[in-house]
Amino acid sequence: MKIAGMIKSSLIDYPGLISCVLFVPGCNYNCFYCHNRSLIDGSYVIVDPRMVDSFLEKRVGLIDGVVITGGEPTLQAELLPYLKKIKNLGYKIKLDTNGSSPLVVEQALNEKLCDYYAVDYKAPASRYKEICGNNASANEVLKTINLLLNANAQLEVRTTVIPQLKKDDLMTMANELPILPKFVLKKYKKPEKYLPVDTKRVAKKPYTDSEIEQLAKLVSTVQPNTVA
Ligand code: SF4
Repeated sequence: MKIAGMIKSSLIDYPGLISCVLFVPGCNYNCFYCHNRSLIDGSYVIVDPRMVDSFLEKRVGLIDGVVITGGEPTLQAELLPYLKKIKNLGYKIKLDTNGSSPLVVEQALNEKLCDYYAVDYKAPASRYKEICGNNASANEVLKTINLLLNANAQLEVRTTVIPQLKKDDLMTMANELPILPKFVLKKYKKPEKYLPVDTKRVAKKPYTDSEIEQLAKLVSTVQPNTVA
């Protein structure tokens, strides 16, 4: 399992738990506003896996959970055995995914490897490729979300409200999704690193906190469990 970064202790990445966050390199999407561009452009450095293993072994009982994020973790062939290894140490596991690999998520569900899933739904289906690159498809993401709902998994779906998403886009997304236990609208922040071709797109003025709250109120008419 390749790991390209680690936050040893976080209070914000796993709801209600103290967690260690592991960043996995590589992604099949290319969202123009990606905040982990070094993980997707190959400029990352791999962390020594023995260091990560030894850290997790020593912190049993001191840290509650491990968050696997990226990049896109489901692209790693070793993901499932790795989750099993961490689970066997006694940690709760949260998997962050762009939702593009329903088959991998289905296997993780079948083997009960994760305790919490966070899936991004990034745009209305008709704008997925424009915003997340040519490999992106909302259909796969919706499949993943439906699998998780049908399995009663602990799930949140997240959307970063980039300035390019208007009120109508968010309402379309809310209607495309099944009713969710938690739908999180996240504020957009300009990434430090981006492609030159996206200079104008990333510089658009973000919504303010109060605008996001208004949008969340509107979206909650369709998705009652929306939070900003
Ligand atoms: S899916 Fe996530 S990691 Fe991949 S490009 Fe988009 S924002 Fe970046």
